[in-house]
Formats: sequence, structure tokens, C-alpha cells
Amino acid sequence: MKKPHIVILGAGYGGLVTTKKLEKLLRSGEATVTLINKHSYHYITTQLHKIGVGTAPDRKIALSIPELVNDSKTRFMTGTVTNVNAESQVVFLESGEEISYDYLVIALGFEVATFGIPGIKEHAFGIRSFRSSKAIYHQITKQLTLYKEDHDPSRLTFAVAGGGFTGIEMLGELAEGLPKLCEEHGVPFENVKIIGIEAAESLIPFFGDELIAYTSHIMESYNIDIFTSTKIKSCTENAVQLENGLEIPCRTLIWSCGVKANSLLERFGLPLVKGKLPVDKNLLVKGTENIFCIGDCALFMKDEKTALPPTAQVAMQEADVCGKNLTALIRGENLKAFEYHHKGSVASIGDRTAVGKVGSFTMSGWFAAIMKRVIENRYLFVLGGPSLILKQTLLLKREQLSVQTKQH
Ligand SMILES: Cc1cc2nc3c(=O)[nH]c(=O)nc-3n(C[C@H](O)[C@H](O)[C@H](O)COP(=O)(O)OP(=O)(O)OC[C@H]3O[C@@H](n4cnc5c(N)ncnc54)[C@H](O)[C@@H]3O)c2cc1C
Repeated sequence: MKKPHIVILGAGYGGLVTTKKLEKLLRSGEATVTLINKHSYHYITTQLHKIGVGTAPDRKIALSIPELVNDSKTRFMTGTVTNVNAESQVVFLESGEEISYDYLVIALGFEVATFGIPGIKEHAFGIRSFRSSKAIYHQITKQLTLYKEDHDPSRLTFAVAGGGFTGIEMLGELAEGLPKLCEEHGVPFENVKIIGIEAAESLIPFFGDELIAYTSHIMESYNIDIFTSTKIKSCTENAVQLENGLEIPCRTLIWSCGVKANSLLERFGLPLVKGKLPVDKNLLVKGTENIFCIGDCALFMKDEKTALPPTAQVAMQEADVCGKNLTALIRGENLKAFEYHHKGSVASIGDRTAVGKVGSFTMSGWFAAIMKRVIENRYLFVLGGPSLILKQTLLLKREQLSVQTKQH
């Protein structure tokens, strides 16, 4: 009898953890598994800000997928998915290849949401992928180089839009990483301005007064100018225009104001809600019997009104159940209903401090920074056990990853 073919689209948090789960659960000969991803590396999104400022080696953040999967159990293909035909059960790749499937997992992740604000798409830098984070690094070093020629202060103004998790992580990293980059480029760090712009009344408004005060204090100690209750109206190549009429001369605006599901989903002919694929309690796309969707592409309703947020934590927990349910479907067993258990959140501010909340317990400072590392290592453990943690900690491979970045 022909073995069922499981095809997983996207090797991010959702796709890769599903793959690892299937490698554990499926017996030899039960199914063939193909994992398809745009690039041959998997990036640790939660640390992309480090690539943006050059404070971590490439291979610490971008892990080789062929080294993470077991090639006797999973066939890995580098390829860009361009469409899916759910009726004929075929995935189309940019290369012209067509891959038939019996079961499909859609885990194609997110895109940056720009909310139609003029100039953001063209001139701002999103923190979306390894490549887009490298583009930030190239922009910073380019501006430092050009500053030496024209002494234009807008080249040394680095603004971050969005004071949520990603925003404060980026601000902290800029504050810690820019002094070294300035020294390397012979530019006085005293001339650098780092600015945070947030539409809400405070940074990380969802974290409570104590952590907000702590974060604001750290930003102040780093000389970062924070504009709260401030909305961006538009942006050009060399300035950011605010709704309050102010214009900030600035050539590097880093955009971290929200994400939306991969717009590729619009082509699949499956019904979308808010740009995402609504899934049932078993994570099957509603109205289908063989297509799962997990992570940032999936709309899973926690209750009648609230959807689960787009986080790595959600994607990984969904992947665990998705792997179990694929195995159950193949064996003709009952499917498991997905239940999300929030384990807490921690955001780093540079290397030495962080803020976080686990249940009702809040934490800040070095203890939170250690917790952040524990969380990152736990993820490495899921992907490759203790040997991957050791390998990434020692990181013997220091070679740069060659990627093409968007030129602004
Ligand atoms: C800067 C930043 C920091 C974050 N920090 C945290 C955090 O601290 N904690 C937390 O829980 N969450 C965090 N998140 C959110 C988290 O990263 C996402 O929720 C998570 O990555 C979603 O997982 P996913 O599997 O749905 O998608 P992704 O991890 O984005 O994976 C999608 C994969 O699909 C691939 N892909 C996309 N399009 C195609 C295509 N056409 N063909 C082939 N492959 C394709 C991509 O290359 C990628 O490998 C952060 C996000 C950002 C941007």
C-alpha cells in the first residue's frame, strides 16, 4: 500500500517542531514526510534584534535545517511555495515543481503589518526574518560610513517604532551594540541618538506599572529618548513625520508595530478570517479533513471573542498537537483537542537585563535575563537536545551567512 505523504510548509517554530514531533512518533514506513522552506536555515526570531545590531554571530541565530532534521525520516527541500490547490492536493513551488500531498501542514508564518502608513513599506526596516535583520545591520554600518563623509546628523539617529516586546528588545540592543560599531567605524558614539516611538501611553503597556517603570528607567539610563502617546504619520528616506506635527530627521526607522499572517494564504482558495486560516479544536483548517494550520497563519479562537496571539510559544504548543493529530489520522485514531497553556513572557533589554511575567510573578534585571536564556535554551533542546545547546553555546562555526538584503 502507498505510504501517506505529509507535506509541511515552512520550517519556522511551527513547521520545525511538527517535523521533530513526527520524527519521534511515526513508526518506520508509516508515512513519508517532506518539509519545505524558503531557505536552508531556520532563524530564531526571538533573537533577530541581535543580527540587526551585529551583536551575535549569524550561526547563533540561523541554524542549518539539514543539520536539525533526521534525513532518514524527513526529506527537506529548499523552495519557495507559490500556491496550494486543496482540491487536487498539490503544492506549487517557484521552481516549477509540484508536490502532491495526502496531509498538509501550513506553517508559513508572518509578515510585517504597515497599516498603510505612507512611506513605511518603502523606507522603514522591519524585523521579520534573518534577511530583513541583516538589512538593518547593513543600513546602520552604511550610515556610520557615510557620516564620516558628510557629518549629516540624520545618519546617526536611529528610531524604533513600537514599544512592545520587539521594540524594547531592539532599543536595548542598539544601546549596547552601537558603541562598538561606532568605535569600529571611527564615529563618536556621543553623536548618536536612539529614539523609541510608541502610540500607547507607555512602553510595554500590557506588563503592569512596576515593569513599565523599570523599563523606562533602563531606557533613561541608556540615554534613549522615548516618545509615548505618539503616532507616526509617514516616513521618507531621511525623516519621520509624527502626527503631532514634529519631524525627526532620521535615516533609519526600525518598524516593530505588529504582524499579520503570510499574505500567500490569499491564493490558496481557502476561506480566511482577518487574513488567517480559521482552525477547529484539532487544528484542522475549518471545512477540510487533511489540512492543518498552525502558528501565525492560524486563527485559533480561545473563546468566542479572543484569538490566540501570534507568538512562538503558541506555534510550538500547536505543533506538538499537530504532530500527534497527524499520527492519529494516519492510524485511524481519535484526534486530540488543542489547549493553550501560557507559560509567561520575557523580553530582553540588551544582554544583561530583561523584564518578564510568569503567571502573577513579575521579574526584572539579571534574573529575568537569565530566564530569557533558559527559554532560548529550552527551545534548542526541543530541536536538538543537549548537544545542540552545547554546540550553540560554544559555537565553533563563525562563518557569515551570505544573504541578499533589500537596498533602501
Ligand atoms: C523580532 C521578533 C521577536 C519575537 N519574540 C518573541 C518572543 O520572545 N516570544 C514569542 O513567543 N514569540 C516571539 N515572536 C513571535 C514569533 O517569532 C512568531 O509568533 C513565530 O515565529 C511564529 O511561528 P510560525 O511557525 O508560525 O512562523 P515562522 O517562525 O515565521 O516560520 C515561517 C517559516 O516559513 C517560511 N516561509 C515563509 N514564506 C514561505 C514560502 N513562500 N515558501 C517557503 N517557505 C516560506 C519562512 O522562511 C519561515 O522559515 C517574535 C517575533 C519577532 C518578529
